Amino acid sequence: MNTVQVHDKVFKPFISREQIQERVKELGAQIDKDYAGLNPIFISILNGSFIFAADLFRCITVDAEISFIKLASYKGTTSTGNVVTAIGMEERLEGRHVVILEDIVDTGKTLSAFIPEIMQRHPASLKIAAFLTKPEALQHDVYTDYVGFEIPNNFVVGYGLDYDGLGRNLPELYTLAD
Ligand code: 5GP
Repeated sequence: MNTVQVHDKVFKPFISREQIQERVKELGAQIDKDYAGLNPIFISILNGSFIFAADLFRCITVDAEISFIKLASYKGTTSTGNVVTAIGMEERLEGRHVVILEDIVDTGKTLSAFIPEIMQRHPASLKIAAFLTKPEALQHDVYTDYVGFEIPNNFVVGYGLDYDGLGRNLPELYTLAD
């Protein structure tokens, strides 16, 4: 695989399409087993998690629902610190087993702001599945129950993750080239 240019930056291959597919299948199988008989509702945080959510959700064989919510905390390659709810969620979560699907838990700011909103709706349980986590960057008290890959604190694009709007359609994951 070769490097790719997204806007002004060059990115190099990091995690292959095959590795991603294999790991997402493993995560999906684990979640499928853990939620048997619980009729879970997945909440996918847009935009970044839509590809992860689509792949993971197709590994679920038990009765399950999915809903989408839009929040944003990022512009460019550094956090702006703003967390905005752009699209609300209508589903009743009371007594439901909720699994949040996130593309990446970086500082944890996004989820630490969003989790209380979910908890106010009295779900029976709440867990988090993230395609990626950056343990070195974590600044908030957020525990990710299902982790695809733990990665170093470098900016990545691909598999749903963008750099200023571009790069989401890359089927593998890329990291900033030196
Ligand atoms: P947090 O609130 O945990 O700091 O950041 C979460 C959000 O920031 C993610 O949902 C994602 O949109 C964005 N983000 C964090 N790190 C990266 C990264 O390395 N690449 C991209 N493309 N987005 C990131």
